[in-house]
Amino acid sequence: MTRVLILATTTGYQTRAFGEAAERLGVELVFATDRCHLIEDPWQDGAIPIRFYDEDASVAAILDAGTVRPIDGILVVGDRPTVIAARVAEQLRLPWHPPAAAATARNKLLTRERLRDAGLNVPWFVPLAIDHEPSAISHQPLTWPCVIKPVALSGSRGVMRANDERELAGALERLRALMRSPDVRAERNEAHDTVLVEGFIPGREYALEGLMHQGELHVLAIFDKLDPLDGPFFEETIYLTPSAAPDGDRRAIVDAVTRASHAIGLHHGPIHAECRVNLEGVFVLEVAARPIGGLCSRALTFVSPAQSQASSPKSQVLSPLVPESPSPLEELLLRHACGEAVHAWRRERDASGVMMIPIPRRGIYRGVDGVEAARAVPHVDDVRITAKADQLLLPLPEGASYLGFIFARAAEPGGVDRALRAAHARLAFAIDTELPVVAAAQINYNQQHG
Ligand code: ADP
Repeated sequence: MTRVLILATTTGYQTRAFGEAAERLGVELVFATDRCHLIEDPWQDGAIPIRFYDEDASVAAILDAGTVRPIDGILVVGDRPTVIAARVAEQLRLPWHPPAAAATARNKLLTRERLRDAGLNVPWFVPLAIDHEPSAISHQPLTWPCVIKPVALSGSRGVMRANDERELAGALERLRALMRSPDVRAERNEAHDTVLVEGFIPGREYALEGLMHQGELHVLAIFDKLDPLDGPFFEETIYLTPSAAPDGDRRAIVDAVTRASHAIGLHHGPIHAECRVNLEGVFVLEVAARPIGGLCSRALTFVSPAQSQASSPKSQVLSPLVPESPSPLEELLLRHACGEAVHAWRRERDASGVMMIPIPRRGIYRGVDGVEAARAVPHVDDVRITAKADQLLLPLPEGASYLGFIFARAAEPGGVDRALRAAHARLAFAIDTELPVVAAAQINYNQQHG
């Protein structure tokens, strides 16, 4: 039986979706995760316990386990284990992104340098040691607005816009506090000692989901990020595909992401890119060596034309059955990880979107009304509330989560947009002001439970 290794940050929707797809395809999954810090094998699934911060030991543990249960393919969920995955793939001679490329993709400063060296559009950018003052910034005079961000966090965490020197000093102070927080320190990542200060790029923002196949980019979807992301913090809300960007812009996005992926060295496996587009062209913000995160992947389903299945013996390695309903992204990724060429697969015909439900303010989450009413909005597929009762909610830039997710599908993108917003308007969240005495305990609780 073909066996695929999945390196995952947490158990959640995406790992379950991989599990279901694996069952359909007759593939065995082996997980390697960093969640086993309390007891061995708490989930009873035989996951290989690793420490994301200890790459050498993690690679060794996985290779060791692989001698008993050989691994035929690799996938990653989440940002942190991407380099470990690449190192394992290199050792096992499995096609994947090279370790150096995965490391560059994880680091916003290295990414900027590669993109600049390859002649791609980049804003001015300078690294700054986190304990230095803004006066140490070598780019003088600074132009405003600018953006300050950690080099190696994700999900817009710690990313702030500053319009003048006073705001920059305040943002740096806030970033220092975030980088001192226990969950960030627990990552033991040296890159967290550096922050990046760079020019603010105006424009509309897009995300591109793709698969690199032996160095060639296969575009799975381009998402419009519907709400303007102009700061001071950059909370994502609606992702909607297909993109309504003009053809020329879409071509330019694909071209820029292809060049950026090559510049970073990404070669084989999933990628998720973010870019901004304005009159100067496309600015690639980052290309991650992993697929779109968590529940958002539910917005993507794919169909394979039956004739291309029939005509390609290679594509029948795993399952001779032509799927009757669209397949989730995870199935496509699993097929690719098993060596199947998936170029013939196309995203379903309908427009599809997801709203990441923003946290409106800091406080203790008590509950939500209106979920059924939101689900009843035409074109809404599902509403998933992921916040847990009595959890401390932290909005960006410090926070790292959403209240939940709304999914919608319709014939036209406009229908999806309207459905997502109508469903959101039906949700009433109860958030209490936190009492100072519980604040410290709650922060600890959230770090344990996400
Ligand atoms: P992360 O990996 O944490 O998502 P990014 O560098 O992609 O960090 O930044 C998160 C968001 O912040 C982006 O999606 C974008 O909206 C905004 N952003 C980041 N850098 C800039 C910039 N230089 N100019 C304008 N917006 C930016």
